[in-house]
Amino acid sequence: MLNERLEEILEAIWVAREKKQSSLAAIRENCAIQFSGSELKALERNKMVLLNGDEVHFTHEGEKLGKVIIRRHRLAEVLVTSILKVKKHKMHEIACEFEHSLQAEVEESICTLLGHPEVCPDGKSIPPGVCCKNNSTRVENTVTSLIELSPGEQGRITYIKPGSHSNLHQLLSFGLSPGVTVTVHRTSPAFCVKFENTELALDPEIAKNIFVWKTSCLLK
Ligand SMILES: [Zn+2]
Ligand SMILES: [Zn+2]
Ligand SMILES: [Zn+2]
Repeated sequence: MLNERLEEILEAIWVAREKKQSSLAAIRENCAIQFSGSELKALERNKMVLLNGDEVHFTHEGEKLGKVIIRRHRLAEVLVTSILKVKKHKMHEIACEFEHSLQAEVEESICTLLGHPEVCPDGKSIPPGVCCKNNSTRVENTVTSLIELSPGEQGRITYIKPGSHSNLHQLLSFGLSPGVTVTVHRTSPAFCVKFENTELALDPEIAKNIFVWKTSCLLK
């Protein structure tokens, strides 16, 4: 196991690489901590990176671990903003603390609870885990698709799968966003929800892509 500082550097290498950058300067710019050259050397000794002049590249092992760290970081972002309602400017910092302590099985449960999110709150992709590939729902369906709720049932939105961007923006403009509690008003002839002072008919395709935390579960 690497220490947390070395994990932060791997995270920064991943983020830089997403922007097609691999220079040391780019990695420093994307890193939450200031790191030293000897820490980079330590990553090289651990066979996580290859150093080539000013360029830093993942080894196969480094890429595998980087993927795990970035997945945990972004899942934590979804978790803290949607359920714990942390403000977005604090989200990254908290996620950075979270990512180092998440056990693999907890990570899977959280991912399942959140409906296997594919993107983090700032739109970056979350690498899928085993739970996503199996599309598992084994955590007692505490989080479920809005379409599964019956009239009168209530849930708090945890995640909206961006089926298409225009739909997502439309929902957000109606005020339907993570953190909002919705009640299913009726399911036929149209699927209709109520939230705050709004009543809204939803296309079933869209309702299917909205994941909610059942309120009854929150109260337990
Ligand atoms: Zn981090
Ligand atoms: Zn993010
Ligand atoms: Zn998953």
